[in-house]
Amino acid sequence: MEQLTPVTLPKPGKSPLRFKDLATLSGALRFSRALGGTEEDTVRVQQLAKNYLADNKSIGDIEIGRVPSGAVYDTLKDRIGVSSADVDVLAHETEHALRLRGTSNLYRTVLGLSKQVVALNNMAAVPAILGLRAMIKNKEERNSVLRVLAGASAVAAVPNLVEEGMASTRVVLNSPDKAKAFKRLFPAFAQHAGYGMVAPGLYLAGTKVEDLL
Ligand SMILES: [Zn+2]
Repeated sequence: MEQLTPVTLPKPGKSPLRFKDLATLSGALRFSRALGGTEEDTVRVQQLAKNYLADNKSIGDIEIGRVPSGAVYDTLKDRIGVSSADVDVLAHETEHALRLRGTSNLYRTVLGLSKQVVALNNMAAVPAILGLRAMIKNKEERNSVLRVLAGASAVAAVPNLVEEGMASTRVVLNSPDKAKAFKRLFPAFAQHAGYGMVAPGLYLAGTKVEDLL
């Protein structure tokens, strides 16, 4: 669930690649070749698909497509988009699919809102700090308001962080090469966490560096 870029649709007349196809050698090869993967990627993707399908037959119908960068599980269209043949990234998006397909609209709405609030907050934090400085002259009062804003904006970021954290944790636990999977996925999580924490960080910084503003 990194980028909200659209998944490329298959060309007319060509059947879309589906998750269940990845469990076959021809499907895994098609995936790997389209995304510039290695022989090892092909083998690992096929094994990964077999493992997931053994426990979750229903995900076999999920379409697999290509996105220009990053990776995404598109909840509305029930499609996974990836930009490389990396098996850990595919596994991460498959975890989102497993968790989000069966869930209520409410959970998905919460995740969507959390993203929007985080984006708004990141834009609004600096003007808010400057505005508060003008509005509340008393330093102690102003700092207590800034701390509340930091707390509130951190809370808004939490649902997405939990979803991202759970998806990656499961991939790492299930991976035959846990260290490699961790190294592959942790930077993306840190990026989510860093992005989610921009506004809280600014509000907290507002209590510290006010004399410089
Ligand atoms: Zn994700």
